[in-house]
Amino acid sequence: MVTAKPKTIPLAEVFGPTIQGEGALAGRSTYFVRLGGCDYTCVWCDSSHAVLPMFVSTLPRLTQEEIYEKLLDLPMGPEWLTISGGNPALFDLTELVSFWQKGSASKVAVETQGSRWADWLGRVDLLTVSPKPPSSGLDAQTSIHNLDDFMSKLMDSAYRKVKPLGPKQAVLKVVVFDDEDFEYARKVHAAYPEFDFYLSVGTAMGGLAGNYIPPAIGLETFLDKFAPARTAASANGTPTVASPATSHGTTVTWTQRGLSDNDRSLLDRYRWLADKVKGDISFNDVAVLPQLHVLLWGHTKGV
Ligand code: SF4
Repeated sequence: MVTAKPKTIPLAEVFGPTIQGEGALAGRSTYFVRLGGCDYTCVWCDSSHAVLPMFVSTLPRLTQEEIYEKLLDLPMGPEWLTISGGNPALFDLTELVSFWQKGSASKVAVETQGSRWADWLGRVDLLTVSPKPPSSGLDAQTSIHNLDDFMSKLMDSAYRKVKPLGPKQAVLKVVVFDDEDFEYARKVHAAYPEFDFYLSVGTAMGGLAGNYIPPAIGLETFLDKFAPARTAASANGTPTVASPATSHGTTVTWTQRGLSDNDRSLLDRYRWLADKVKGDISFNDVAVLPQLHVLLWGHTKGV
């Protein structure tokens, strides 16, 4: 009798313990598995090694059991395992999820862009659905169409036979770079109000084509747009960027705070997004977050 070989999956990274930077688990300790392969190609994607075919084709291919064994080699700590990509929904990960959940306090979180439903997603403890906004390069109509199909399957009773995924087990998250993305996020939140909703500030670094600057605008315009408090160079030639005035009227600079350009850019844009959210009644029940992992470690892989 010929026994079928177990299917293998391209593995980009296994690491941890680390801190989840975004969404419902932001700030919590987790292990991380990043799989290779994605059905989208967002221009600002910070995981080109897990998306571009030229890189994915060079990744090692492992069975789910082998991936689980790699996790067991990591230092003990977090209860959560986060599976991301690429798009992990392209694979059947039933075994990996069940291996991990057999532990006494072992929970599985999955991040996907909501383009393709897979039944095993109904077994996870937290599913973060992160549809891509217009700045990704994907047209909003396609993104919403794919999301609607995904969400209808998520909520369909036929899929709930596996395990009901209630609104607290599935959450929505949208990365926002600009006003158009913000309006896209509004539509998504209005369509699925029962799901907890997270807005995440997009980061300027990374991108499938190198460091990402939004199309058609240069770095100066980008900083002016997302760092409106930027000031002229200081007398000694070191770029000095003013932070917002504090509530008691004094102004300090990002440079004085010892922050790098990357930190400053992220925080300026976090403030930009927070200012938009706090005055908008249709976002009065959402969480707006920076990308904590970028603030902590920049775009370093494997942390
Ligand atoms: S951002 Fe996510 S959905 Fe977009 S290309 Fe990268 S991994 Fe794929």
